[in-house]
Amino acid sequence: MNELKLSRRRFIGTTTGAALALPLARHLQASPATTSISLPLDSPIAIASGNGLEAVELAVSQMLEGNDPLDAAIAGVGLVEDDPDDISVGYGGLPNEDGEVELDAAVMHGPSHKAGAVASLRGYRHPAQIAKRVMVQTDHVLLVGEGAKRFAKAQGFQEENLLTEKSREIWLYWKQTHSKVDDWIPPPPETVADDVRSLVERITGTIHLGAINRTGDLSCTTTTSGLFFKIPGRVGDSPIIGAGLYVDNEVGSCGSTGRGEANLQNLCSFLGVELMRQGLAPVDAGLEVLRRVVSHTKEPRLLAEEGVPNFGLKFYLLNKKGEYAGVSMRGPSTFAVADSKGARLEDCACLFEG
Ligand code: ASP
Repeated sequence: MNELKLSRRRFIGTTTGAALALPLARHLQASPATTSISLPLDSPIAIASGNGLEAVELAVSQMLEGNDPLDAAIAGVGLVEDDPDDISVGYGGLPNEDGEVELDAAVMHGPSHKAGAVASLRGYRHPAQIAKRVMVQTDHVLLVGEGAKRFAKAQGFQEENLLTEKSREIWLYWKQTHSKVDDWIPPPPETVADDVRSLVERITGTIHLGAINRTGDLSCTTTTSGLFFKIPGRVGDSPIIGAGLYVDNEVGSCGSTGRGEANLQNLCSFLGVELMRQGLAPVDAGLEVLRRVVSHTKEPRLLAEEGVPNFGLKFYLLNKKGEYAGVSMRGPSTFAVADSKGARLEDCACLFEG
């Protein structure tokens, strides 16, 4: 009796499935955001977090030379990965709680809809380049830790110590001061440089860069040393496709900096692109993503007195028409953009002041 019921159910399911197959497949196809896109654009466009002013300039000049938008984006963020003074990305990035620099990065290529990423990578300053190798030279999307490191070595990247003297000093001061119930003795206050003292506050940082060429092909990348003094092995949003970045070549791209955990819990970059697909302008899509994060933030430790999130989170959105926006949980805040008018910082639209 049971057998009969089961097989009948299976039979019905199969028939219904077959009958629905065609319309359902059509329904599930990703629809473009708009039909009124006028291509080619006047100029390639690149947008990035506020630390990416030179990066967007380089990305646009590379696209003007005909380079693929993903290669242009990776070249742009490479400047910041190389910069020892940017302590949130690449060489000179602040380390984990053991004093070891662990980097996260991802790339996403619009035309092929392929992605690559590395997480908790130690010893290589250009994780975005290695993420692209994962995309191109493997059947995978994400390599982590020791495996990512071996992959980078196999690909011929040069291993090096990424901890600069400045980052070591900041980390050591954090170790000496973050608890009263251990055996570290804090140094006399007058011997501590102001920037060392202020950076122990765990200001976050990262670079995201989104790029579109004149023919409307999009790509993006996010690269970071992640949360300062993180627990070793902690992976943030930056190397997670759909969280730290996402691109749909028919719609646009979105990427993030700020509190990665909030982004991981809401898959914000995917959401940002989906909202643009539904017709929202980049600024409205970005603000709506931030509102979603606010409504999902329930733990008192993450809320300021007014009941709004006490952390920073920003998104950088670019659509197929070349419209763009930076949005921030808290303002004032700026983001970088380059196009035919050159490279500049513009104001983010902010959900809350202060
Ligand atoms: N989103 C990065 C992370 O959580 C940090 C940041 O952007 O500041 O790893």
